[in-house]
Amino acid sequence: MSTAPYDVLVLGAGGVGSAALYQLAKRGLRAAAIDRFQPPHIHGSSHGETRIIRQAYFEHPSYVPLLKRSYELWRELEAESQRSLYHETGLVEIGPPDGIVLPGVMRAAEQFDLEIDQLTPVEASRQFPQYLFPDDHLVAFERRAGYLLVEDCVSTFLQLAQQHSGELIGDTQILSWSRDGEGFCVSTSRGEYRAAKLIIAGGSGAVELLKQLNVPLRVLRKHLHWYAIDDLRLQEANGCPCYFFESSHGYFYGFPEITPGGGLKGAEHGGGQELASPWDYEHSADPEDQRRIAAFFQRSIPGVSKRPLRHETCLYTMTPDENFLLGLYPGEERIALAAGLSGHGFKFTAVLGEALADLVERGTSPLPLEFLAPDRFAR
Ligand SMILES: Cc1cc2nc3c(=O)[nH]c(=O)nc-3n(C[C@H](O)[C@H](O)[C@H](O)COP(=O)(O)OP(=O)(O)OC[C@H]3O[C@@H](n4cnc5c(N)ncnc54)[C@H](O)[C@@H]3O)c2cc1C
Repeated sequence: MSTAPYDVLVLGAGGVGSAALYQLAKRGLRAAAIDRFQPPHIHGSSHGETRIIRQAYFEHPSYVPLLKRSYELWRELEAESQRSLYHETGLVEIGPPDGIVLPGVMRAAEQFDLEIDQLTPVEASRQFPQYLFPDDHLVAFERRAGYLLVEDCVSTFLQLAQQHSGELIGDTQILSWSRDGEGFCVSTSRGEYRAAKLIIAGGSGAVELLKQLNVPLRVLRKHLHWYAIDDLRLQEANGCPCYFFESSHGYFYGFPEITPGGGLKGAEHGGGQELASPWDYEHSADPEDQRRIAAFFQRSIPGVSKRPLRHETCLYTMTPDENFLLGLYPGEERIALAAGLSGHGFKFTAVLGEALADLVERGTSPLPLEFLAPDRFAR
């Protein structure tokens, strides 16, 4: 591709960067990913055991073609690595008929002919007695949904990338990047690296790495909680699905107990504490967040005990419209970027890695990405 030491440098090796490195290395490109830590790690957005994956996308139906491709890529990754990364537990979604979630799920399902069971609260209580469904809400069950093992996905991408001769440059802070003749120079805590092209996949670090784009990205500190269960029907082994509840109290979601004694995991999708810096924040639990999740369990999943087992913090990087930034860097065909995944990006990382590799290699992707164009806020 060029005489620079690397064809492509990937800035950040979390969920997206590790997937991009894997795609580049598989194509035989000379590629390396630089990360401040040794991924997977607990300082960004891709940790905490599990992430929900689903296709009937209430946020915006235009994500569905990306999700269909993502499902194929996760299965390919499992086949190549001989690891089980995606667990199809199904997903129960509950919300008011005039809310955001249920109408959005049904709209996406109808538009893309996705299989969704629509249930009354009475039918849903019979099928999923471990959850409480308000009488005036609607329920949808998406069978082809479940969870991804988040750290295992990142380490699998990185291991396979390295087998294909991709490099991980860990424990290295990126200080800045700049144009350098025909290519780019990335200045880091360990010196300078040069490449013909860049992929920027810095998660919350995009606040600094993409400062010149002038998109107001906000970083939120979010919380994950694991609580002991009293009701064994909440175990994945007993057929318990993942869940997503919308109500007047907020948006709460979570996962069955996936290992005996590990507890049921729950979190609130809204809220969070805005951070001034993505590197300097408190990792301890927030009492108000803990009170809200405990109240949610009492209201909606009474088989969860009052005994917290574990807590983790994790970061959301929000765009103004909560849709991703994905595409070529405005005015620069040699840089592709993915940023501002707004708390719902992990399920896409497989397809984002492929799209970024396509963009930086060929200048285009066959996927419909226009609605995510990085320059849409400037237009
Ligand atoms: C609590 C929580 C729950 C979530 N639940 C879901 C879910 O159920 N389903 C779903 O699909 N998504 C979910 N998400 C969102 C999803 O996890 C994220 O969108 C995704 O992990 C983001 O990946 P990323 O690669 O952009 O960021 P990261 O994985 O954080 O990667 C960015 C990497 O860049 C590195 N980096 C940044 N700046 C620099 C620098 N200057 N120098 C060196 N390295 C740098 C960081 O160290 C990091 O490793 C959740 C997120 C959180 C926090």
